[in-house]
Amino acid sequence: MSKPVALLAYQDADVEKQQIESALRTTPNRVRLNKLAKYVKQQQATLTKLTEDLETFSAAMSKMNQQHKAVLDRLDLESSEFETLKGDEECTSEEMTEFRHDIEKLQREANNLEKEIKQTFRNLDAAAEEYKKTWQQGAKAKKEYDQLKVVCQKEKDDAAVDMLAADKKMEELEKRVNPTLMNRYKRVRQHHNVPVVEVRDGKCSGCNMSLPSLSIRRLVSEDMILECDNCGRLLYADIE
Ligand SMILES: [Zn+2]
Repeated sequence: MSKPVALLAYQDADVEKQQIESALRTTPNRVRLNKLAKYVKQQQATLTKLTEDLETFSAAMSKMNQQHKAVLDRLDLESSEFETLKGDEECTSEEMTEFRHDIEKLQREANNLEKEIKQTFRNLDAAAEEYKKTWQQGAKAKKEYDQLKVVCQKEKDDAAVDMLAADKKMEELEKRVNPTLMNRYKRVRQHHNVPVVEVRDGKCSGCNMSLPSLSIRRLVSEDMILECDNCGRLLYADIE
């Protein structure tokens, strides 16, 4: 195909519109907004995790408190029985020793539970502190996000005017292009931002692949619409 002037004019307008869109997606405000969105999401995930931790620690704590209370009750009971036995002349020294061992065992149990309760309380405290910190950081980021979102919306609204102008321009230029050619352009456009490229030095200037000489000959002599075998772009030869 020789130089498709009308289609290339359309493509220029298309590229111009793509640049407006891309500029809008990459403004410093938009980049910061995307970063904040990711950060807020992370903070929320952390809060969910911490909430689960807090629930786990609380449940463990209340279970251990109950166990501790039960052990103390048994200890009380055994101790008072022991006191009674001390006055009982029929009680053998083996029985007394056994009783003493039971009491000592219960005391060890109670001590261990106290240690575990203290540790769990420290874990609970640390998780609560981290929750508070994370929540504050998240709230701060969310506030900045909300403010920035307004700014980004304004940028978008401003760009919409340019986009509309670009659409109008493309609409006008499309009228001058052969509809079959336009359809092929639109099909290739799904994969490439710039679908029509020139053949330079026997190569597709889109992907740089060398074209078979037969293709080049047909391109020059028959004014065919050829597609690059490698990248699928539409090819033209700029013949004077
Ligand atoms: Zn190519």
